[in-house]
Amino acid sequence: MYLSKVGKKMNKMSGVRAIMTDIIETLAKAKDKHFYNLSAGNPVVLPEVRDLWKRYIRNLLDSDEFDQAFCRYGGSNGYVPFIKAVCSQYNKHYNWNIDVKNVIVGPGSQKIYYYIINAFSGSSENGEMKKVLFPLSPEYTGYSNQAVEYDTMISYRPKIDILGEHEFKYRPHFENIKIDDSIGVVVLSRPTNPTGNVVTDEEIKKIIEMAEQRDVPVVIDNAYAPPIPNICFTEMTPQYGDNVIHCFSLSKAGMPGARIGVAIGNERYIKPMQAFQANSCLHSSMLGQAVAAQAMNSGELEKISNAVIRKFYFDKKALALKTIEENFNPDIPYYVHKAEGTLFIWIWFKDLPITCGELYQKLKQEDTIVVPGDGFFPGLEHDDWKHKQECIRLSMTTSDDDIVEGLKRIGKVVGEVYGK
Ligand code: PLP
Repeated sequence: MYLSKVGKKMNKMSGVRAIMTDIIETLAKAKDKHFYNLSAGNPVVLPEVRDLWKRYIRNLLDSDEFDQAFCRYGGSNGYVPFIKAVCSQYNKHYNWNIDVKNVIVGPGSQKIYYYIINAFSGSSENGEMKKVLFPLSPEYTGYSNQAVEYDTMISYRPKIDILGEHEFKYRPHFENIKIDDSIGVVVLSRPTNPTGNVVTDEEIKKIIEMAEQRDVPVVIDNAYAPPIPNICFTEMTPQYGDNVIHCFSLSKAGMPGARIGVAIGNERYIKPMQAFQANSCLHSSMLGQAVAAQAMNSGELEKISNAVIRKFYFDKKALALKTIEENFNPDIPYYVHKAEGTLFIWIWFKDLPITCGELYQKLKQEDTIVVPGDGFFPGLEHDDWKHKQECIRLSMTTSDDDIVEGLKRIGKVVGEVYGK
């Protein structure tokens, strides 16, 4: 079978995808066994959130709007009532001044990053090459395979701030970060999957200013940020600017299957993305957008984000931190990343005597599944930094009992590995 260069690149299994395949096979092979699975990235189906969506879908089915949202093609930038709802949501909250021309809706934010990375980085007609810069890595691994060209992503090792006996935080290493003519676009998630880091308002401002001097767009991925779904446990203010593209997603607000991702920014950025979308899929599905527009306009979506979604993950995080503190031997040099948001907890085992991949295998023997951290360093693939082999990501999407038992087993295995 012929596969083009692009076909081969897209067909390549990234590190995290390979692990996810191994996890699926492990779970399928031992169907009758119970695993403490702390690896899943799928958000939990929360009954109140699911019931809200069911109610709004029923309303839509019974309304005249159904014909427009389901039985007709639409514009390539998205379903206009939804775009208007997005504009009023952000204008109201943050005093922005965006309107329909500043917004594009794609089939999931993942697809939006595909447009952004391939439109604003890569090689130009005259052979010039511009890269994607991640100001801080570890970062969302889903960006890694977005570029159709090879070797277009770079990053720098972050600074590590030790905050307490067993807590730390990554910070952008401004002494190293360079935004020069070799950079086409800067991308970061805030809060960050996999670490739960929230890059501070000051740090974001600095990154935006550095990029502005070179007319480089800064893409801020708000998949977990306020106001929706607001899986964020610290103060943060989204910064808007002429060179900023804000993206968000409704996936963590209970509708990942509806595939709704949004980009907000200057028209000069939105237009090429709209053209990309028109060429690749005409437009994204409008049914979910019509439903989401109603839930946004009524204020119910924001309310349920705060009262139910945020609270659910906040409580899980608190349980996990308490379990770690009570069960991990304090003599082990472990550091939990300051848990400021997302569905995840990130743990760094300093000077771990084995690799995180080997730790993953050992934990599997104890029926406990985690995600090894080495696949979450986009832009640092060629850096043999030992830290990359010392971290794991834990998902807070399982039952309280499984979180507690899984963490107890991790504490035991890691203790054995360190000989403590
Ligand atoms: N950005 C981050 C940081 C994510 O964690 C995810 C999914 O887990 C996405 C983007 C993709 O989300 P979507 O469902 O909108 O494509």
